[in-house]
Amino acid sequence: MTFGEKKTIDAKEVSKVLASIIYPNAKEQKDKKNYFETLEKLCDVFDNRITLHKETEGRKFTCYIEKKAYDAFFRFANDTYQNRRHEATGLIVGYYLHDRDNPNSLFIVGTHFLGATGESSSVTTEFSYQDSINHSNFCNENKLLPLIWIHSHPGFGVFYSGTDCTTLKTLFAATHQTGVVVDNLKNKVLGYKMYGNDMLEEDIFLLDLDKSDGSHLECKLLNDKISSKKKGEIEERTDDIKILETKTENFENERIILKKNEKTISNTIILAFSFLYVFLLVGGITLFASFNRTNDLEKRVFELVQQIDSISNSISVLQTIIREVDMSIHETTIEEIDSIFYKECHRTCKTDSVIQTIQSKTESELIELNEKCNENR
Ligand SMILES: [Zn+2]
Repeated sequence: MTFGEKKTIDAKEVSKVLASIIYPNAKEQKDKKNYFETLEKLCDVFDNRITLHKETEGRKFTCYIEKKAYDAFFRFANDTYQNRRHEATGLIVGYYLHDRDNPNSLFIVGTHFLGATGESSSVTTEFSYQDSINHSNFCNENKLLPLIWIHSHPGFGVFYSGTDCTTLKTLFAATHQTGVVVDNLKNKVLGYKMYGNDMLEEDIFLLDLDKSDGSHLECKLLNDKISSKKKGEIEERTDDIKILETKTENFENERIILKKNEKTISNTIILAFSFLYVFLLVGGITLFASFNRTNDLEKRVFELVQQIDSISNSISVLQTIIREVDMSIHETTIEEIDSIFYKECHRTCKTDSVIQTIQSKTESELIELNEKCNENR
C-alpha cells in the first residue's frame, strides 16, 4: 500500500507559513481548521526545537507522538483488552518535518490516531483491507502521513516478535516511519525503526502541545532509556525469542506433518470402514441368501422327510398288501390245489371205479366167455 501523493516523501521545513502552504483554504474549509491550527502551533513550538529540547542533540531523527494521539491509542488498546482480551493496533498519522535551516535534522510528529479493525487475538492483530483504504483516504484528505505503526502487547511486555519485525521491515520501513509497541497493562513502551536494512530501537517522545509554547516544550521520553545492562537483557531476550520462534517453526512443521499423517490415517480409516461396510453388506446379503437357502433347504428336507415318511407308509401298506396278496395267493393256491387235488382224486376214484367196473365186467365177461367156450367144447 502507498500513502500520500508521492512515493518518496520529503520532510517539510518548520516555518511560520507551512500551515498556510499545506492548508491554503483552511479559513473557508471548516474541517481543515483544526489541522491548520495544530500544524501552526507545532511550527511555533518547534521553531526553536534544538534549544527547547536538549535531548535532540546528536540525533538525525526524532519521533514525537502528540499526547492526544497517544491517549487515543491507549484508550483503544484498553477497550480492546477489556472487551475481548485482544491486542490492538493502528496508525498514528501526522507531519514529517525538519528544523529550520537544517534539512538533516529530521523529526516526525504523530498528531492523530487511526484504529485498525482487522482480525485479532490475544497475541495477534491486523489491519483490514478496508482499514488501509480508510487510512489512506484520511491521510490524503487531510495532508497527513502514516508515520507510526503502533500496537499493544497487553501484559506480556514490550518487544518485537518475528511477525512484528517483518511488518516493520515490509510495511513501515520508510525514512519517516517508526514502529511502537506498548504494554498497556504494565505501561511500558518501546520504539523500533528501520535504518536501511537495520532495525534499531528508537526513542519515542510524548509531546503535550496544549502545555507547550514557543518558550517551553512539554515533552518526555515514553520508553525507558536503554541502559547497556538492559540492552544485554534485551539481546538475551531477543535470542530467547529467536529460539522460541525456531521451536514454533519446528512445531508448526511437525504439526503440518502430523496433520498430513492424520489425513492419511483418516483416509485409511475411511477406506477400511468402506471395505468393512462393503464386506458386511456383501456378507450380510450372502448370509441372508444362505439363510433363505438354508430355510428353503430345511423346508425341502422337511418335505422330503414327509415324502419319505409317506413313501415308507406306502411301502408298509404295499408290504401289507403284498403279504396279504401272498397270503391270499398262498391260500388261494392251497385251496385250488386242494380243490384240484380233490377233483383229481375224485376223478381218479371215479376212474378207478370205472376201471374196477370195467375190470370186473371184463373179468365176468371173460369168465362168461370162458364158460361159453368150455360149453362149446
Ligand atoms: Zn507484537
